Amino acid sequence: MSAGSASRPSTASILAVGSELLGTARLDTNSLYLTSRLEALGISVVRKVCVGDGWADLLAEIPLALARAPLLVMTGGLGPTDDDRTKEAVAKVLGRVLVRDEAILLRLKERFRRRGLEMPKVNEKQADVIEGAVVLANSRGSAPGFLAAAGASTVVLLPGVPLEMKAMWADAVEPLLARAGAAGVHRRTLKIAAMPESVVETLVKPVYTAYADVPFTILAAPGEVQLQFAARGTFEEASRVLDRIEADFHKALSGEIFGRDDDTLEGVAGDLLRVKGQTLALAESCTGGHLAGRITDVPGSSEYFLGAAVTYANAAKADLVGVSAATLERHGAVSEETAREMALGARKRFGATIGLSTTGIAGPGGGTPEKPVGTVHIALDAADGTRLHRRLLLPGERSLIRRWTTSTALGMLRKYLLGLADGGRR
Ligand code: AMP
Ligand code: MG
Repeated sequence: MSAGSASRPSTASILAVGSELLGTARLDTNSLYLTSRLEALGISVVRKVCVGDGWADLLAEIPLALARAPLLVMTGGLGPTDDDRTKEAVAKVLGRVLVRDEAILLRLKERFRRRGLEMPKVNEKQADVIEGAVVLANSRGSAPGFLAAAGASTVVLLPGVPLEMKAMWADAVEPLLARAGAAGVHRRTLKIAAMPESVVETLVKPVYTAYADVPFTILAAPGEVQLQFAARGTFEEASRVLDRIEADFHKALSGEIFGRDDDTLEGVAGDLLRVKGQTLALAESCTGGHLAGRITDVPGSSEYFLGAAVTYANAAKADLVGVSAATLERHGAVSEETAREMALGARKRFGATIGLSTTGIAGPGGGTPEKPVGTVHIALDAADGTRLHRRLLLPGERSLIRRWTTSTALGMLRKYLLGLADGGRR
């Protein structure tokens, strides 16, 4: 289970945190459940303690519990209020820092938003994770749990609310314990949108050459580059190595990594639109609805996606999204000016906060010396006054050009929503 031990622990201690457990009103039932689950795995509980929320009490009890068995399971004190300090105390005992996890913060905000509430400031600390620990998802509540190595031992932190504690134990901890000691190969994939493979390669080379014994592959899919790497060991051992490499890749690619493993660019952009309370409308020419297709592949996209106009003909660009005749006449359908007017027009027409447009020459015909096949203009027009534009000169054939275009547009949208600088011009 732990970084050091090769097999499942044979003994465990339980520490139930909460001053209410010391009074007469509340019984510690969590440890009864945990004891029965641990016993089922052949792990005997050798120590069980209730401790109040006081800082000094926590700092005194954690090392004692840790010293008694190779596995310590703690419940309670992961909530947002000042008396919830289990995470802080464990970090202090282990000599680790807490790091704000932006992805968890987004999920927390989303939980509140779905209930029509703004997340109170106090909940932000629930997005702080213990450096190097495995984060355990909470399917029933807001507080994530943790599994952290402590020398040769392992500490597991679970929420106090029995329903949340049981779900987390069953979903996240038991599977890990069941396979504990069984070393395997664990893989991770990081994803980058609309960047040429060779550019990514140049930026990440110093990172993967520094990890000479880690198998590393760089894969190019249309409009996307994937970095794949793997580590051997127990889940926790491997996660620690993979987390370190991932952090280095993030540094090397500042802001370009949009997700990992099963994440999709449209899913990530959609989550951001939802969390930021923004709505999106499109005017598509060369992508002919593909961009709308990708966005609506995501379940729940109706929350932020209002609609798209596929304005293939010049008349449609004028009639549906108000591109001016003068612009079309002077600059042509494939131009920065037309793209900008399309984005603005889509935003206005659908009443969205963000308009996004594509216009270009997907080929194989239609190219000219000034505007060869693969010339694409993408524009973003936001209600806050942000106006972005990018011109691309894409290689390859029609389907590739269209895919690159949709990925670039989604990548621009993501960066705008994150407040990151984009290669595009304002
Ligand atoms: P906490 O995660 O410390 O905020 O705990 C939330 C709530 O879960 C408490 O108010 C208790 O009602 C309940 N709770 C906490 N620890 C336990 C326990 N060991 N056994 C049963 N209920 C608990
Ligand atoms: Mg409590």
